[in-house]
Amino acid sequence: SEILLEVKDLKKYFPIQGGIFSKTVQNVKAVDGVDLYIKKGETLGLVGESGCGKTTVGRTILRLLEPTGGQILFNNEDIMKYNKKNMLKLRQNMQIVFQDPNSSLNPRMTIKDIIAEPLIINGLVKGEDVENTVTQLLEAVGLNPQHLHRYPHEFSGGQRQRIGIARALALNPKFVVLDEPTSSLDVSVQSQILNKLKDLQKELGLTYLFISHNLIVVKYLSDRVAVMYLGKIVESAKTQELFDKPLHPYTQALLSAIPVPDPNCKRNRIILEGDVPTPINPPSGCRFHTRCKHRMDICSKVEPEMKDTGNEHFVACHLMDKQ
Ligand code: SF4
Repeated sequence: SEILLEVKDLKKYFPIQGGIFSKTVQNVKAVDGVDLYIKKGETLGLVGESGCGKTTVGRTILRLLEPTGGQILFNNEDIMKYNKKNMLKLRQNMQIVFQDPNSSLNPRMTIKDIIAEPLIINGLVKGEDVENTVTQLLEAVGLNPQHLHRYPHEFSGGQRQRIGIARALALNPKFVVLDEPTSSLDVSVQSQILNKLKDLQKELGLTYLFISHNLIVVKYLSDRVAVMYLGKIVESAKTQELFDKPLHPYTQALLSAIPVPDPNCKRNRIILEGDVPTPINPPSGCRFHTRCKHRMDICSKVEPEMKDTGNEHFVACHLMDKQ
C-alpha cells in the first residue's frame, strides 16, 4: 500500500552550555539520522528505553520541534519547505496525543472548549454546530456527551486521555502520533484505551506512529516495529517477525526482558553491560558496541549500515555481513 509518511536522515540536536564557566556549546544528539516510513492505515511502533530519542522523533515529524536536518515527506510533499501558515494547515492532518493527559489539558477550560478549540482556531465549525461536533467526538471516544460542560479534574485518568484523543481527532486528521498514550494509566484502563485507538483507526482510516517503551503494548497495536537506541533506529520489521526473529543484539536484549506468563517456560534474559552512553558523545562505529557481547573489531570503527534482509526487515549490525 501507499506510503503516507517518509522520514530521511532526520536529526534533532539540542545545544547545551558546556559547564558553568565554559563557553563551549555541545550538542545533545537526541535524534541522529533516523529513516522511517509509514504506510496508509498502518501503525508503526517506535520502541526504546527512555532517552533514546523516540519522543523527539514524534515531535520533530510534526515540527513541534524544528528538525536540525533531514527530510520529512507527507503524502510525497516535503514539509520541511512549508512556512508557518502552511504548517498550521498541515497540522489539521497531523495530530498528537500526549502521554500525560493532566498536563496537556487546560484545567480552566471545559471539555467542550478544550475539544472545540482546534475547530474554532481553524474556522471549521461555528455557533450551534460546535456543540454537535463535540458531542459526536465524545461519543466516538466512548465518553458521555452530557459531561460537555465539566472540567478536566472531574474525570479519571483514562477519561482524560479519551478527551485528549477526542481533541486530536477533532480536525479529522490522517496521521496521529501517539506518544506513550497509556503509560500514565492503570493497567486495567490501558487496554480499554488501546482498544479504542484500534477501533478508531479502523473506522476513520487513521495512520499511527505509536511511541512506547512497553513492548507488550507495542506488539498489540503495531503492524511494524522500529527499535531505537541512542538516537538511531537499529532494526525494524513486521511485528510478528521482530518478536519471533530479532536480529540486532539490542533488540534481542530488549525482548529477553519481557516477562513470560508461563513460569515453567524458561527464557534467558540478556543482561546488558554498563549504562546507556551519553548522546552528547555517542560511541564511535556502532553506538551499541560498548554494551554488545557480540562486538568485533570493526564495531567500534565503522558504523553499520541499515541492511534490507527481505520482507521489510531492516537491521544495522555488522553481524549481518558474516552470514
Ligand atoms: Fe554488536 Fe557489532 Fe552488531 Fe553493534 S555492529 S550490535 S557492536 S555486533
